[in-house]
Amino acid sequence: MASIKNPNNCSNCGSSNFDFVSPSTGTSYVLTTVDQTKNPPAFNPTSGLPVAVFGCLDCGVLTFHVESLRRS
Ligand SMILES: [Zn+2]
Repeated sequence: MASIKNPNNCSNCGSSNFDFVSPSTGTSYVLTTVDQTKNPPAFNPTSGLPVAVFGCLDCGVLTFHVESLRRS
């Protein structure tokens, strides 16, 4: 199975000022979940989906890549 290609251009505006966003700490960003039935909403500490984040310096749109989402 081929790996996901890293994007070279922004999918929103087409700018090439688009690159991988390195986390300031740790090794990856994670999308997590919250329980909104609680006030304030409670983070679910055991949920998390590691994502590679790419960002556009011109329009600010972020793109997430998640290798585990792909069908085998
Ligand atoms: Zn853009």
